Amino acid sequence: MVARTRQFLLVEPVAKTPYPPLGLMKISTWLKRRYKGCRVFGTIGDEIPAEITRPDRVYVTSLFTWDLEKVVRTVNTYADRFPRAKISIGGIAASLLPDDVERGTGIRPHVGLIKGAEACPPDYSLTFGRKLDASITFASRGCPRKCRFCCVEAHEPGFHVRDGWRRDINPELPRILFWDNNWLASPNFASDCEQIRKLGKVVDFNQGLDARLYDKAVAKEMSTIRLRPVRFAFDNVAMEKHVLRATKLVREHSPGEIRVYVLYNFDDTPEDLYYRLDVLNRNHVLAFPMEYRRPTATKTKFPGPHWNSALLRAMKLTLLYYYRRGMITESRTSFHSIYGRTPNQFVDRLYEIYEYDKTLKRKPTS
Ligand code: SF4
Repeated sequence: MVARTRQFLLVEPVAKTPYPPLGLMKISTWLKRRYKGCRVFGTIGDEIPAEITRPDRVYVTSLFTWDLEKVVRTVNTYADRFPRAKISIGGIAASLLPDDVERGTGIRPHVGLIKGAEACPPDYSLTFGRKLDASITFASRGCPRKCRFCCVEAHEPGFHVRDGWRRDINPELPRILFWDNNWLASPNFASDCEQIRKLGKVVDFNQGLDARLYDKAVAKEMSTIRLRPVRFAFDNVAMEKHVLRATKLVREHSPGEIRVYVLYNFDDTPEDLYYRLDVLNRNHVLAFPMEYRRPTATKTKFPGPHWNSALLRAMKLTLLYYYRRGMITESRTSFHSIYGRTPNQFVDRLYEIYEYDKTLKRKPTS
């Protein structure tokens, strides 16, 4: 009797980011290594690939907690469609809210990383509809800091290095994306730099580098690799001196463009956001404002103690309509004309933008 070829289906319920689900790409390699000759399919949402007839197992990932309802619906669709398949649920949202997932699906999700898959390189033949020009990897997991607004500790507890990250690199792709949470804290920093130098590819640590750890020695070492762009985070005003020192060091040692993530809507005020944006703009640094959302929130809008829905909406609109890719560019003139010259003007502008947007939405009466 000829054994039936095993089939596996990997599902990304919601595709909202430009990057494919790395966890599923790793699971694909892991399955192909464990079950020689098996077939692995990837899909987004409820679209079942025509070639799949009877999957042995369906893996469903999750990302944002506010999309959890859709994750639950997707899981239930596959459970009904393939009642004999075992269904596994994982990913960040499921790790943060396992009880909610279990309540909605009757399935207890996997919390955290799957050890076996974590050790495997991503399967680059499975990119879930994305065009990839970069390998994706982590040289470390977790973060030694525990910032109050961050959920890294919940799904990547502790901090450890990944010695074998080079195995994740696809030689045919020109760039490498590192998704480390805090690479500069890694004891492997110098040896990682050496390996990056040897590979000769452009690299991007796109979760940002910790400006507090970016000193002269680090800047010198970093100048030997092709880091484009250089990213930091300006999460609160207390970070100002670190961010300014780090950006100055980058300029002295490397040619890379500097981008800074600016968190807002946590415990900051709109005036405090204006202050940080103004500091960056005055120093000709690109600012990338990022709205804080509670990691376990199941709805998208969640105004912090000093914000409201109108201000949040207006801030989003400014990034959508005035700035390319949500980033505040260097021009001082456009910064002033959009956000004003003082914190008070900034708040007034946001309310004006909000009101103007409302008038656009109003249906004309005939
Ligand atoms: S340094 Fe970054 S990754 Fe680490 S806890 Fe703070 S926000 Fe999270």
